[in-house]
Amino acid sequence: MSSTTKDPQSLPVDVEQQCAVTLPDGDRCPRSLTCKAHSMAAKRAVPDRSMPYDMLLQAYQKKLQTRQKNKAPPQRKYRPPNPPSSSRESSSGSHIPPERSTSKNSPS
Ligand SMILES: [Zn+2]
Repeated sequence: MSSTTKDPQSLPVDVEQQCAVTLPDGDRCPRSLTCKAHSMAAKRAVPDRSMPYDMLLQAYQKKLQTRQKNKAPPQRKYRPPNPPSSSRESSSGSHIPPERSTSKNSPS
């Protein structure tokens, strides 16, 4: 059982970015410009391109390269959060009142 309800209009092929070689069944090849299934000649023969296939391919590959560059994670050093040193000094308490129990304890 194979129900292939194929709608050729469902996926518009972008001839600027896709192979777009006309297939035997009338569709356009939806693969990228670097499609291996079709020859350069076939891709050059695609009519609707605004630029020659070679130029589109060049632009496409350039775009790929820049995308890969952008994909590289930025070098980020992990810095543990440091509490401000001033608050730590005041909390440790250097200001303790001296004991004055002797004056209260001594009966006069
Ligand atoms: Zn193709």
